Amino acid sequence: MVSGPARTARADVLLAAAGERGVLCDFYGEEAAGIYRDIMHEDPWEAREYAARIRPSPGPVLELAAGTGRLTFPLLELGREMTVLELSPAMLAVLRERLTAAPASARDRCTVVRGDMSAFSVGKRFGTVVVSPGSINLLGGAGRAGLYASVRDHLEPGGKFLVGVPEKNAGKPETLERSQEIPGASGRRYVLHTRLIPAEETREVTVCPADETADPFPVCTSRIRLVDADRVVRELGQAGFDVTERVPLVFAGGRHQDVLLVAVLSGSDRP
Ligand code: SAM
Repeated sequence: MVSGPARTARADVLLAAAGERGVLCDFYGEEAAGIYRDIMHEDPWEAREYAARIRPSPGPVLELAAGTGRLTFPLLELGREMTVLELSPAMLAVLRERLTAAPASARDRCTVVRGDMSAFSVGKRFGTVVVSPGSINLLGGAGRAGLYASVRDHLEPGGKFLVGVPEKNAGKPETLERSQEIPGASGRRYVLHTRLIPAEETREVTVCPADETADPFPVCTSRIRLVDADRVVRELGQAGFDVTERVPLVFAGGRHQDVLLVAVLSGSDRP
């Protein structure tokens, strides 16, 4: 569930230094929506891998945790009916604004729904259900079980569940804390700080402007569960899915740390 901003250890340090300029915000909340869009670039490679697996499956597409539509807009180019579900009102507001500005031929094929990917019912079945990388990691074990059950109830026979997950459990590397400067599409620069807490199987994420004098000084936070591809493959098996493909997601920079899992309901006819 999206709740208030996580109070990460790094956020405490940054907010103490920024004094009255500091604003703690949820990375998926209203105050951070501009920063989120600035940082989260659309990646043609990633969208291409999803599109290649949607194309052979007929029927409408359901995208869960769609955010501001980073994956939605490239997938709308496939010409399918799409339903997109997202929990955060701030993310939905940006997504709706982008749809309003999009050509009617795309906008009219896209239905936007506010909902929780771990327990949803949209009254319709789909040829493909899609979740981008970075989203399943926001759910705990019970939430993921709810996600698999809800997806099962929304897939056409032979339909596909495409879910992006980190390849490896990020709990294993030696570096527990790391900061890196990242550029936004606007040219503004940000500092992304991550801190692993292996005992809690979580990673704290804190993003702030690289310009320490910024006023206001937003400190955006999120907590991510350390769930890797092997665990999701196991869980999908227990939830009645067969994973038929495991595709490395190669990003524009050439690195890959996520994989796209392609799953079908066990015993269903595969197209
Ligand atoms: N798919 C988008 C993309 O690729 O940019 C967004 C991915 S972002 C890592 C995760 C998204 O999941 C956020 O927009 C967040 O608001 C949303 N979210 C978090 N918990 C959710 C839930 N339980 N149900 C639906 N959406 C959720």
